[in-house]
Amino acid sequence: MSTEHLMGVYNRAPLEVDRGQGARLWSTDGTEYLDCVMGISTNALGHAHPILVQAVKDQAEKLWHVSNIFKIPGQEALADALCEKSFADVVFFTNSGTEAVECALKTARKFHSANGQPERIDIYGFDGSFHGRTYGAINAAANPSYTNGFGPPMEGFHQLVFGDHEALKAAIAHPNTAAIIVEPVQGEGGCRAIPEVCLRGLRELCDEYGVLIIFDEVQCGMGRTGKLWAHEWGGMAPDIMAIAKALGGGFPVGACLATNHAAKGMVVGVHGSTFGGNPLAMAVGGAAFAEISKPETLAHVNEIAGYLKQQLHGLKERFPDVIVDVRGKGLLLGVKLVPNNREFMGWARDENQLLVAGGGDNCVRILPPLNLTLEEAREAVARFEKTCEGARAKMAAA
Ligand SMILES: *Cc1c(COP(=O)(O)O)cnc(C)c1O
Repeated sequence: MSTEHLMGVYNRAPLEVDRGQGARLWSTDGTEYLDCVMGISTNALGHAHPILVQAVKDQAEKLWHVSNIFKIPGQEALADALCEKSFADVVFFTNSGTEAVECALKTARKFHSANGQPERIDIYGFDGSFHGRTYGAINAAANPSYTNGFGPPMEGFHQLVFGDHEALKAAIAHPNTAAIIVEPVQGEGGCRAIPEVCLRGLRELCDEYGVLIIFDEVQCGMGRTGKLWAHEWGGMAPDIMAIAKALGGGFPVGACLATNHAAKGMVVGVHGSTFGGNPLAMAVGGAAFAEISKPETLAHVNEIAGYLKQQLHGLKERFPDVIVDVRGKGLLLGVKLVPNNREFMGWARDENQLLVAGGGDNCVRILPPLNLTLEEAREAVARFEKTCEGARAKMAAA
C-alpha cells in the first residue's frame, strides 16, 4: 500500500491510523496518541462512542438509504430537534459542510429573487475564513491558495477585511447586497472570534438594510465553544446557518438551517440531494445531537475549556520564546507560536504522542472531544508543555 494512487492534494502526517477509543487514537504500529484533532472537531464525542456505535448498528440492520422523494422519520425528528434548539424554522440536510454552505448561499440569493429583488446577489465574506472546497464556498472565502487556477472568480462574491467596520457598513448598505457570510469563530483561520458586541452590531445593521446573515458554524457550532451555537455568545441569531462536522459525530452529516422568512425562495424543486438526510445519517446525527445538546455536555465543555485556557496562558508566561498568543473560544483553542506550527505539530506527535491541528496565522489548534476528562486535559497540557520544552531546546541549538 502507498499513497501513489491517491490524488496528491493532502500533505499527510506519517501516522497510519488503526483504531480509536474516546480521546485515544492508535496507529497501525501500536503507538497510542492523545487526539486533540478529533477529525478537526468532527468526532466531538470522541472515537467509537458507544451511543453512536449502537445507533449505526441498529440503523444499518434496518434501512440505509431511500430517496428524499419519501418521508424519512429520522430526518423529521432531527429537524425538529435542531429547530427546537436554535433560531431556525427549517432545515436542509447535506453530507458535508461545504454543501451546507452552498445551500446557505443559494437560500440567501433565492430569498431576494423571490422578494422581487433579483439584483441582490452580492455576498460578502471575510479574509482568513474557510467555508469548504466547492465553487461557491471557495469564492465566498476567497483564499487565493484555494481559488487560484480554478477559473475566473465567481460573480457576486466579495471580500472584507476582518475588523474593517467601515468597509462592512458600506457593503451592507449597498443595494445589491444579498448576504454576509462569516464564521462567528474562525477555525482554519486561526481561532479568531468576532467580538460579541460586533455580532450584535452586525445584526442591527443587516436588519436595517434587509441583508441576510449567514453564519458558518460548521466548526464552531455544536457545542464546541461552550454554547450549542457560537453566535449565542453574542445574544443574537443569523438568518441562515451552515453546520456539519460534529453533527454526525464523525459520520458525514451536514445541515443548512434557516428561518421561514429567509427560506422563502426554497420551494419544491429548487434544491436537493441524493444522500443528504438519509436514514443512516439521520440515525447517527440524531444520536450525536441529542448527546451534544445536553446542558451537561455544554457545562462540561466550559469547565474543561476554562482549565485548558488557564493552563495554556500559564505556558505562555513560561515559554514566551515559544508561545505568542492563546486565543479561541471554548474547546476551539488556538495557540500562536514562534516556531513553525507544522514543525511543532510534528514534535508534539512524534515526541509526545499528542495530536494537534494546524491553523492560519502560525497557530496550532487544540480540538479535543467535548467529553474530554479533566485527567485527559491535564495529560494534554503536560504533553504540550514537553513539546514547548523541546521546541525551546531545538531553537537554542539552531
Ligand atoms: C470544515 C469546514 C467547512 C467544510 O466542511 P466539509 O465537510 O469539509 O465540506 C466549512 N466551513 C468551516 C468553518 C469548516 O471548518
